[in-house]
Amino acid sequence: MSFDFSTEGTGFRYRSQQAVRVGLPGVPDPWGAARTFSMSSSPTETGHLTVTCRISDTPFKQALSHLRPGETAQVIGPLGEFLLDLTRPSVFLAGGIGVTPFRGMMRYASDTGDAGERRLLYSARVPEDLVFRDELDVFVRTHPTYRVGYTVTRPGESSRPWEGRVGRIDEEWIREIAKGLHRPKYYIAGLPEMVEEIVGRLTGPMGILSEDIDYEVFRGF
Ligand SMILES: Cc1cc2nc3c(=O)[nH]c(=O)nc-3n(C[C@H](O)[C@H](O)[C@H](O)COP(=O)(O)OP(=O)(O)OC[C@H]3O[C@@H](n4cnc5c(N)ncnc54)[C@H](O)[C@@H]3O)c2cc1C
Repeated sequence: MSFDFSTEGTGFRYRSQQAVRVGLPGVPDPWGAARTFSMSSSPTETGHLTVTCRISDTPFKQALSHLRPGETAQVIGPLGEFLLDLTRPSVFLAGGIGVTPFRGMMRYASDTGDAGERRLLYSARVPEDLVFRDELDVFVRTHPTYRVGYTVTRPGESSRPWEGRVGRIDEEWIREIAKGLHRPKYYIAGLPEMVEEIVGRLTGPMGILSEDIDYEVFRGF
């Protein structure tokens, strides 16, 4: 689910692609009445910010999913330094809901007339978890230097047909998408295990310098 919060009159500004902490004071959640979310919106989308999350059965997520238009939440931020560098080619590697900052980055790049090389590899369990797919496909159609590849790790758990790639984001696929790019910056976002695995591949067999890698770990879940 995505949630738009109005920023009109608040002076709230952020950079692509920071995060916020969303609080619902009073919600009795044993893990606390707030969660951190990357913004899935771009700073170019003025007047509001958007966060997108998986709805689980925690009291916080249940309360969030039942917010009605016009109700309020506490939003603290912007937070973090997971920032897009438009001066270099980018390789974005997303696991599941970890795609949220990359939707924001691609939208930001697109809105600012960027013509740099932007490549996204996006993995999800089942096809229906590939959120933002329609919009990402539009970015690719309208920008010859943007590319997106999708993969699904457990197509058998879905009733939707899937004829695309199956399996995790592996070294061979990263090499293929990064081919021809001059010293790209690698950005990774997803659950801790996914980020750790990919950073290991990049810095190990692929020999990418850690200064060319940035990541956002979605702790929790
Ligand atoms: C920088 C950053 C950016 C992030 N961006 C996003 C984002 O864009 N979108 C997004 O969805 N998430 C994002 N996250 C993760 C987010 O903060 C939450 O941790 C996540 O969404 C899970 O929240 P939750 O309420 O579902 O479960 P959690 O708050 O993680 O649950 C708390 C703990 O309780 C356990 N638990 C949950 N339910 C039950 C239950 N019923 N019974 C027993 N135990 C249970 C969980 O396993 C976990 O250990 C981000 C995190 C960080 C740090």
